[in-house]
Amino acid sequence: MLDMACRCCGSRTVELVVDLGDQPHCNRLVAQDLTPGVEPHYPLRVGFCHTCTMVQIDHTIPKESMFSDYPYVSGTTKTLPAHFAETSRRIADAYGLGPQDLVVDIGSNDGTWLKQYAPYGCRVLGVEAAGNVAKIAQDAGVPTWNRFFNEDCVADILKEFGPAKVVTAAGVFFHLEELHSVVRGIEALLTSDGVFVVQAIYLGGMVENTAFDQVYHEHLCYYTLKSLSALLEQHGLEVFEAKLVPIHGGSIEAHVARKGSRPVGDSVRDMQAEEIRKGFGDIATYQRFAGNVVELRDRLLALLQTYKSAGRSVWAYGAPAKGATLLNSFGIGPDLVQQAVERNPMKVGLAIPGVRTPIAAEEADVSPNAYIILAWNFADEFLKNAANQKFIEQGGEFIIPVPKVQVVSASGTRDVK
Ligand SMILES: [Zn+2]
Repeated sequence: MLDMACRCCGSRTVELVVDLGDQPHCNRLVAQDLTPGVEPHYPLRVGFCHTCTMVQIDHTIPKESMFSDYPYVSGTTKTLPAHFAETSRRIADAYGLGPQDLVVDIGSNDGTWLKQYAPYGCRVLGVEAAGNVAKIAQDAGVPTWNRFFNEDCVADILKEFGPAKVVTAAGVFFHLEELHSVVRGIEALLTSDGVFVVQAIYLGGMVENTAFDQVYHEHLCYYTLKSLSALLEQHGLEVFEAKLVPIHGGSIEAHVARKGSRPVGDSVRDMQAEEIRKGFGDIATYQRFAGNVVELRDRLLALLQTYKSAGRSVWAYGAPAKGATLLNSFGIGPDLVQQAVERNPMKVGLAIPGVRTPIAAEEADVSPNAYIILAWNFADEFLKNAANQKFIEQGGEFIIPVPKVQVVSASGTRDVK
């Protein structure tokens, strides 16, 4: 057992299933000339709670250190704004949002999601802990508070705005150090018929995709419907609709209300049955996942060695947080992947911590023999891009590391065995 109380149920029944070794905080990019090895490293271990089935990491880097300044901006990709437009339309239609209603988005980032509510005329408020991205939202005219969402924050929202018809949280719910204070806050903030809509990376998808690179220090909890429900039920809330959405390589979207206030739909019972069928409440499933990670590592390292032996260059296409986990877990340094190229100006000129892969700006006229797509969840978007199509036509290759190791070239896509 890991030496911890479960983040969800408090039991000391959390058993280690995946140990990725000591790693630096993936989003704390470092100067390229920083003395090697000085960035702090912390254990990155995944455990399974035998009592409530919550999968979680045991080591917590304090939230102030991880989220007060943040290099991830939702609006950078094309996929996310389109995804949020579609989601807000569904929410507005389902719950009849109008000008009198308030929507509060937790971890609202640069306001990408809240902007999508403009057609419905409702009031919106973002709560964003990172000052740099909160300012981007404020400058764009999206009302945003720069603070952590918790019970204290909710007390102030209620004073200033009153209760919220809809509370949303996308890509943030696995980040929460103050998990129970946040959930109590949501319960207190909702109107009597209010709905909380949460999107979080789905553990079932992670297991099926061997997406171990979603494990990093910012992601404290990894949810199934069962473990999410175990958390919400402690605070008088229940999931009444649930579905899977493709964003971030597979996420769960749950619609949540006060227990008993709305009928629980078939989607919930169907997903519960599917999770039992697939063994997502069994530790053996996660032990098999650990074995699949080792197999993936061996294939990827062997492939990168063939490029190195042939004197062919490989660069990373993008430097996402999950890329730091992948490179550090597998020990892939600049000898195998020489540099990363990025379009996010906040990352250019720095290096991925640990492995110290330098990050450069994307340039049209210089390219390697192959790119490895670390943000593999956006691979479809990247590969459709005209410049990348041209790169492939001219003999370039893309390596996709997850869910299986693949090489995309002019002759097609092949699986690496
Ligand atoms: Zn537990």
